[in-house]
Amino acid sequence: MQSTIFHTSLAYLPFRIHESPRFMFRKAAAARYRTVDSFLRFMSSSSVRPQQRYAFLSDLGLSQTTTQKGVCDGYSWYASGPKHTQINPATGEVIGTVEFGSGDDYERAVKAMLAAKEKWALTPAPVRGEVVRQIGQRIREKQHALGALVSAEMGKILPEGIGEVQEAVDICDFAVGLSRTLNGSVIPSERPGHFMMERWNPLQGCVGIISAFNFPCAVYFWNVALSLVCGNVNLWKPAETTSLVAIAFVKLVQDVLKESGHDPAVATLVCGHGKEIGEALIQDPRMELVSFTGSTAVGRHVNQVVAGRFGRALLELGGNNAMIIDQDADLDLAVRAALFGAVGTAGQRCTSLRRLFLHADVYEEVLGRLKQAYASVKIGDPLDSQTLCGPLHRPEGVKLFTTTVAKALEEGGKVLVGGQPWHGVEKGGMLSHGNFVQPTVVEVPATAKILEEEAFVPVMYVVKIKDLQEGVKMNNSVRQGLSSALFTSSPTSMFEWTGPTGSDCGIVNVNIGTSGAEIGGAFGGNKETGWGRESGSDAWKQYMRRSTCTINHSKELPLAQGINFGGGNENGGEGKIMD
Ligand code: NAD
Repeated sequence: MQSTIFHTSLAYLPFRIHESPRFMFRKAAAARYRTVDSFLRFMSSSSVRPQQRYAFLSDLGLSQTTTQKGVCDGYSWYASGPKHTQINPATGEVIGTVEFGSGDDYERAVKAMLAAKEKWALTPAPVRGEVVRQIGQRIREKQHALGALVSAEMGKILPEGIGEVQEAVDICDFAVGLSRTLNGSVIPSERPGHFMMERWNPLQGCVGIISAFNFPCAVYFWNVALSLVCGNVNLWKPAETTSLVAIAFVKLVQDVLKESGHDPAVATLVCGHGKEIGEALIQDPRMELVSFTGSTAVGRHVNQVVAGRFGRALLELGGNNAMIIDQDADLDLAVRAALFGAVGTAGQRCTSLRRLFLHADVYEEVLGRLKQAYASVKIGDPLDSQTLCGPLHRPEGVKLFTTTVAKALEEGGKVLVGGQPWHGVEKGGMLSHGNFVQPTVVEVPATAKILEEEAFVPVMYVVKIKDLQEGVKMNNSVRQGLSSALFTSSPTSMFEWTGPTGSDCGIVNVNIGTSGAEIGGAFGGNKETGWGRESGSDAWKQYMRRSTCTINHSKELPLAQGINFGGGNENGGEGKIMD
């Protein structure tokens, strides 16, 4: 099978990669490379000097050599914490240095937010929406440079980096529409002369956003775009290793806020360590809502701390996603979806495919096709146009990969594809310091304990099932509940899978893979994935305070449930006290 399978599965990405006249970089070194392809060739060439490879940094106001301050209270950039070196995971090159925030720096940002809060909350929601519209527009203008930064710092291939930036744009667009539809409801009152309604107000406190490395900008925008139109002030603590992406985006957001005459302290940033800044944020009673995206282990702690002070936690935690390919499935579609789900972002999506359940009748056929498909996957530099599988984000990922494969073997597994770290020899050895592994498929018995864990690496387990019921049972048998997919042509199976006795996940797909969700739906998962929902549908309600308001416009004071308290109740009756 040709590598076009994978490319076709990326075809949903909403940009036309060969028609991007704006994909030009201002730096003289890169100025003559006017298309994405030629830019990719330029970036991939071993003869270019490091300064030229990272010319896109200057387009974003960043630099490889100058230390960036990692804290912004809206008015200035400052930091007094430790320095952190940002590394390209494909090459080991230094792409920048960021000075992290200290506890005092955090405090200063929170004070600025609190001072900005009331005015922003009283700004009409459609006016707030207009600001978010401009933020989306500013991101659009820098989309390719931002995508290249996401790719260089996180390690995902460039089409996925640019696709992630597009997701930020999409959610801004979504939030603009939302700013005119934060509707409350009018509820019929049982009392004469009374009017009952729900109003949605901004939160009393601040919103703290803690994000993971694997979606270094999209997760922030899922939260901040909605939260801004809802009238909140926001503090972002990004993953340590993707701080440059955070700085680049917050610079754009700040520019728009200042140019449009709004207080820039409504969107603050504190780069720093999870154990220091993250911990300060979750303990802080001024953070009414903590939106946390990351591992289940850290999320469990966040949940306990925030619940302990009666704050609100929105949790997007680990997944352990499964796909069932039933006997009546379209195997072409299914194999393409499995490949993208398992190999895309080098298996580092929360929705990456980890468990593949194959009906016995199609087992050999699907495995044969998968082996062919995997053989066509080129591992390498994510900025190289031919690459489909980039590096793991951190060196620890390679160790995790090795121990994961070893454990699967101990449990009776058999490696069908891959199974080894990958040491790039191309490009004059430039990739030899990268965190590369081979995308791997391991056949395991249905009883293997390893099926219960999320390993954030490109290892997919394959299990043979006798029927759909067994597949559904196995899908639901783990502690996580994020994304799931069934491939079938049977309408009965489709409706059973999406219904009460079907998948227990937050995302329940049919004939599409587990990864690559649209922003219009509420995104998130159940059980140890944390029950959180972000992005589309009515996820905005979590960023607001619901006020149930009853207005008496009569001259009487009737009580609910017809209670007669000391006489004078026109409704009469004894009623029941409900509250
Ligand atoms: P992680 O849990 O190691 O870190 C996430 C964030 O938490 C980072 O910003 C980190 O600095 C911070 N942090 C660490 N300790 C903290 C503490 N004590 N208090 C507060 N914050 C703290 O996760 P990761 O390795 O960056 O990301 C990978 C994980 O994230 C995977 O499990 C993946 O499935 C999950 N994820 C889930 C979703 C989702 O939507 N469900 C999306 C993306 C990633």
